[in-house]
Amino acid sequence: MNLCELPEGVLDRIARACGAAALFNLACTDRFWASFLNDSHDLWQDFWENKVCDTAKRRVTDEALAGAISAKQRLRLVGFTGCVFCGAKRIRKVYWEFAVRCCTDCLHARTISDYRVTHDYAVPADALAGLPFVTTEMWSRGHGTYTVKFHWRDHIVPLLRRYHGVDSFEEYARRKQEAEQRAREDKRAIEERKVELRRVREAKYREWCADAGLDPDIAMKRSYTLRAKSAIAAAPRWPSFVNNVLPVVRQELEAWQNKQAGR
Ligand SMILES: [Zn+2]
Repeated sequence: MNLCELPEGVLDRIARACGAAALFNLACTDRFWASFLNDSHDLWQDFWENKVCDTAKRRVTDEALAGAISAKQRLRLVGFTGCVFCGAKRIRKVYWEFAVRCCTDCLHARTISDYRVTHDYAVPADALAGLPFVTTEMWSRGHGTYTVKFHWRDHIVPLLRRYHGVDSFEEYARRKQEAEQRAREDKRAIEERKVELRRVREAKYREWCADAGLDPDIAMKRSYTLRAKSAIAAAPRWPSFVNNVLPVVRQELEAWQNKQAGR
């Protein structure tokens, strides 16, 4: 005869004979027991009331009791010790906001400040409203004492998905880095294009100066206007050169020559 074919009353008696650890083990033995010992089974509440010591009960905060933490979760959190992530022993601290019992190292590794979420990960502050958080008092010379909110990183991931279409903090950071790299490359390409434009323009201006009977080297050296106009990153235009640049260049060269002659 299969165990699960036993009458429910008998199964109930078996479960009620268990200690907390055995009960949780039983609840994850298989699908049958998992569904029999689901969160809403009275047995968890009965166990909580009758078998949990007062010291453990006192560790449940009023907020936790008011929140949606089931008797089964309460029992799981205060009925045992040790960090649920790294296994560090003798850890009793329960963060009811996140429904975990863990050491401070694991808490820090799995939480992120609201400042970083909004600044480093560009999630709007409004989107954090309603998410659970713990607070830490910090101090700095500029601000004195101030309070920082820490959110559970896994709770932020859906926001990264919603606002940036990425599935993790790492992916967001990688995309951001790639975008910055692209921006740097674009900037470099623009700079290179400008250098090329200036080179072509100066060559053309020198050529046109020679065509107009001026020595390009002297013109470039002695005419401030020619140097300034050659250094503009834009395609050279003949009409503009002839109408606006050349007359001024001639004037400047003439002035220079007069000065030379007068000396
Ligand atoms: Zn830990």
